[in-house]
Amino acid sequence: MKAILKYTSMGLLAAVLASCSTVPISGRRQLSLVSDDQIQDQAAVAYKEFLNDPKTRVITGTSNAALVKNVGNKIAAAVNKYLADEGLSQQFNFNWEFNLVESSDVNAWCMPGGKVAVYTGILPFTANEAGLATVMGHEIAHAIARHSMEQMSNQYAVQVGAQVLGVATAGRNTLIQGLVNNAYGIGGQLALLKYSRSNESEADQLGLVFMAMAGYNPENAVAFWERMASAKAASSTPEFLSTHPSDARRINDIQKLIPNAMAYYKK
Ligand SMILES: [Zn+2]
Repeated sequence: MKAILKYTSMGLLAAVLASCSTVPISGRRQLSLVSDDQIQDQAAVAYKEFLNDPKTRVITGTSNAALVKNVGNKIAAAVNKYLADEGLSQQFNFNWEFNLVESSDVNAWCMPGGKVAVYTGILPFTANEAGLATVMGHEIAHAIARHSMEQMSNQYAVQVGAQVLGVATAGRNTLIQGLVNNAYGIGGQLALLKYSRSNESEADQLGLVFMAMAGYNPENAVAFWERMASAKAASSTPEFLSTHPSDARRINDIQKLIPNAMAYYKK
């Protein structure tokens, strides 16, 4: 029995070691037990449901709607080029989409696979194109760093332990489906993941690089986060602030990351 347990845990260890991926730019190794393709498929369905929900008002035909698409496409082009240059294109089969949504919520997000929503409520804080690129670069960074996949892999490892790694694919798929549904909600009820503080720092690092690659001076990020910090004084806490603490430490860390990002900045 002891021997079996020993071999099972060795098997798990081997499976875990064989199931790691590397985050672009940061080079960090992350647990990768859940198929990112599967997560992207589910995210695409959830995104469609969100856009088609009668409560969702997608803005079209305004200059801000055009700006969201324009900034998104610029960052996506820069990211795609970087991934191609690094020989990583096949690992990141994104189908980018960018939409501006009418909402007083101060929020923006990017689902796995490049499905982006920017809420009109955040526009007073982004204030200009570079501010918008800061937010979109950051959210896209969460998707490129596959933070959702990582979080689900961690949950998967905790929930099922060694045994399930040996069960049939169908059983694993059901389990993964459950994790994805938990993360993205069912029937259009969108409940986005809260990322860890270290994931947030990594998204800041990658986001600054992505905005720089797309032609935006990463120094603009500081002004955006300072505007977010000043919003804290307001009576209600914006959604984006509850998941993205914009305290002095974050702004300080971003300032330290800017010189590296500047290397990617091309005028
Ligand atoms: Zn974030």
